[in-house]
Amino acid sequence: MNAPNELKSHQLSYHEIVAKYPTVSPFVILKTDVQRRGVTYTTQAIERANPALHLLQFRSIFHTIGEKQTPQIPVSLLLRDGTSILTGMRPDAPAPYLVDFVDGRLVLTDHGQILEEVEYWHKPQYVDKHTSAGTPMWQVATPRPQRLDINPYSYCHFWDDGGGCKYCNISSHFNKERKNNGKPLRIAPRDIYETVREAVKQPGRFANIMLTGGSILSGSQLFDDELQVYIETLQAIGENFTTRRFPSQLIASAFSLDQLARLYEETGLLTYTSDLEVLDDALFNWICPGKAGKLGYQAWKRRLIDAVQIFGTGRVNTGIVGGVETATPHGFASEDEALDATLTEAEDLAQHGVTVVQCVWSPTRGSAFAKQHPPSLEYYVRLSQGLDALRRHYNLNADMDSYRICGNHPDTDLSRI
Ligand code: SF4
Repeated sequence: MNAPNELKSHQLSYHEIVAKYPTVSPFVILKTDVQRRGVTYTTQAIERANPALHLLQFRSIFHTIGEKQTPQIPVSLLLRDGTSILTGMRPDAPAPYLVDFVDGRLVLTDHGQILEEVEYWHKPQYVDKHTSAGTPMWQVATPRPQRLDINPYSYCHFWDDGGGCKYCNISSHFNKERKNNGKPLRIAPRDIYETVREAVKQPGRFANIMLTGGSILSGSQLFDDELQVYIETLQAIGENFTTRRFPSQLIASAFSLDQLARLYEETGLLTYTSDLEVLDDALFNWICPGKAGKLGYQAWKRRLIDAVQIFGTGRVNTGIVGGVETATPHGFASEDEALDATLTEAEDLAQHGVTVVQCVWSPTRGSAFAKQHPPSLEYYVRLSQGLDALRRHYNLNADMDSYRICGNHPDTDLSRI
């Protein structure tokens, strides 16, 4: 596993991959490559963004684009079939796609060639409003085309001892935003209650509410204080609903069985996700040293499997940073080997009722892996096919993380077909 990763040359292009994988939607392949390589915008494309119609400000716990940027840049893109692309402005990436305005159309281009028409994400009605405490609602809840994201706590304490995951920039991003824009560490539950109340008034806009944030290690048990933040937040959100449970996903640390029972009993949460990030024990130790040191890969995995007892099959999943298993110098030296190891472990999780979904690794500023390169586009297509096949074989849906509700995972996009 120690050889330098030399796989990143001789890669097939987008068009070659589309021709080689005719059963995979070209929209999904394009989305994957845009996530992998990032985008930039021409001045003409930026001028087409309409502040009254499009989403130009975006609160994020990870560095994608500046939260208060000038000029205001579209947050992200939609393709013609409704596929959403979650990507960011990455002018420093080695080969980003370019969004341009050509012959009256917004288009995605690569080296001057037009590949597809695109549209900017639309702005929901709540984002220009304020809570009763005067907080701008766009700073409380972040909209995706179909989902409301809430990040109650913006710093990850694995970073306190240098144990942050190596592809992640949460805490470097928080420190910068706190210094430049006074970003609060925690969002008040009352602000969240009021913002959700306002957001769900818009008919048909939001299908789900997702919560995530940095890990908090303190408390009498590991993660107890993090659990408390989510219980208070979910209870505040739940005041907006008359049903016992509401469509929701929590992506959090790996809670113990009694913590999970509290989460389920004391809130209206419907599903639970805790990210293993990379499906290999040794690579987990290297890439996620904080998680490995405090709990370890096997215990993290065991807690996910335990969560199925509480939330039920199809309501527990784990995210991986697809491709990070090929990072140098300790990652897999061959894409075949990486794929085989990842899918074997994903199958073990599937046999225990836990779904695996992938995000596309996009090395970003502020992370330890900022200067690394993701694997080939073909690798991501094969990984997506493999994860989709496992879900079909084991009859595991991923509705809380599906193309309808999340839109970030190329593998769950395949469940449309
Ligand atoms: S646990 Fe890892 S990936 Fe998650 S916020 Fe902390 S450092 Fe980032």
